[in-house]
Amino acid sequence: MVQTLRPLPPPRAWLPPPRPDGRVPVDLLALLPEEMEAYLGSLGEPRYRARQIIAWLHSRAVTDLRQITVLPQSVRERLAQDSFVPVPEILRRQADPVDGTVKYLLRLTDRETVETVLMRYRFGYSLCVSSQVGCRMGCRFCASTIGGLRRNLGASEMVAQLQVAQRDLRQGLRADPPFDRVSRIVVMGMGEPLENLDAVLRFVSLAHLPEGCSIGWRHLTVSTSGLVPAIDRLAQEKMPITLAVSLHAPNDEVRDRLMPINRRYPLDALIPACRRYQEATRRRLTFEYVLIAGVNDLPEHARELADLLRGMSCHVNLIPLNPVAERALLPSSRRATAEFAALLSRMGVPATVRRQLGTSIDAACGQLRHRTLASGVVSDSLQERPIGGISSGGLLDTIQRG
Ligand code: SF4
Repeated sequence: MVQTLRPLPPPRAWLPPPRPDGRVPVDLLALLPEEMEAYLGSLGEPRYRARQIIAWLHSRAVTDLRQITVLPQSVRERLAQDSFVPVPEILRRQADPVDGTVKYLLRLTDRETVETVLMRYRFGYSLCVSSQVGCRMGCRFCASTIGGLRRNLGASEMVAQLQVAQRDLRQGLRADPPFDRVSRIVVMGMGEPLENLDAVLRFVSLAHLPEGCSIGWRHLTVSTSGLVPAIDRLAQEKMPITLAVSLHAPNDEVRDRLMPINRRYPLDALIPACRRYQEATRRRLTFEYVLIAGVNDLPEHARELADLLRGMSCHVNLIPLNPVAERALLPSSRRATAEFAALLSRMGVPATVRRQLGTSIDAACGQLRHRTLASGVVSDSLQERPIGGISSGGLLDTIQRG
C-alpha cells in the first residue's frame, strides 16, 4: 500500500545566468522548432531560419552562435546578445583502452559537475546522460548519491552533454568508421530522471528532431528508480520511448535495504504502475537489476523475480556491480550471474547480462565525479551548500519523517 506521504520538495531548477543588465537570456538550445520559430519571429526573422539554427546547434554541435555561417552576420550578432548556449567545460575525459568507453566529467556554467558516458556497442555509440547534479534517491550501490542532490539540469544542459560527445565523434576521437555520431541515448546517468520529467521530455524531443540528432524514439531510454506518480504521468504522455525501471530486488525486504525509494513506493505500488504504463503505451519495459553477491543474487531471488514479473512484456538487464569504495558491496561471481540469468530464462523471463564497460575508468555511476571532488583537484562548491536541507541520505530522512 502507498502511504499518504508528504511530497518531496521539488529540486532546484536551472536558469541561464542573467546578463549584466539583469535580463535572463533565451535558452536557445532548449527551444523546440515551433518555439524557435516564435522567437525568431519576435526578432523579425523568417521562420525557416529556425530549422537552420537547430541543425547547426544540435547536429553540428556548434556552440558559438557567431559560427552559424548560414545566418546573416546581423542575425548572428543579435542572437549572441539576446540568447545563451550553455557550454560545459571538460574537466576529465577518461577513455577505456579496451572497450572504447569514454567517461566525461563536465563543469557546468555554475561550476557544478556532472558525468556523461559514451559507450561503444556493435550498433554504434550510446550516450548515458545525467539529468540532475547529484541525486537524493540514496541507492546503496551508487556513487552519484553520496554528495546528495544539488539541482535539476535544464534540458539544454542535457543537450550540451550530447554536443560534447557529438563533437568528439565528429572530430575523430577515435578512428571508428562508420560510426561518427551518437545513435542511442539512455537518460540513466546521475540523478533520478523522473524527478526532472519536464526537462527530460523536452530533451528527448530535441534529441529526436530530424534536423537535429535524429535519434529514433525506440533508441531513447529514460530510467527511474520507481517514482510511481511520475511513471503514471509519463504513461499519459504516450511517448514511444523505452522506460527502464531500476528494480534491483525481487521483494520489499531486499529492496528496502538497497533503495530507500522503496519505502515510499513499495513493490505492490511500483509493479502495478509498470503494468499501467505498459497498457497505456504498449511498450516493452526494461528492468535493470544490479547483481550483488549474497544480497540479491541467490536462486530464490531469481524465482521471486520471475514470479513478480510474470505476464509482463519485459526484459531484464542483469548488470554486474561496479563496486564503489564507500559501499561494502561486492559483485556476484560469474557463475552466480550465469545461473541467475539461466533461471530467469527457464522461468519465461527474458534476461541478458550486460557487458561490463569502462572497468578501468571509474565505471560506477558518479564515481569519477565523487573521486575528483573528494581529491580536491577540482574546486567545487559541493561542501558549501546542501540543497533545501537535502544532502546525502536526505531522501531516506524525508521518508522516515514523512
Ligand atoms: S542509481 Fe540512479 S536513482 Fe539511485 S542513487 Fe544512483 S543516480 Fe540516483
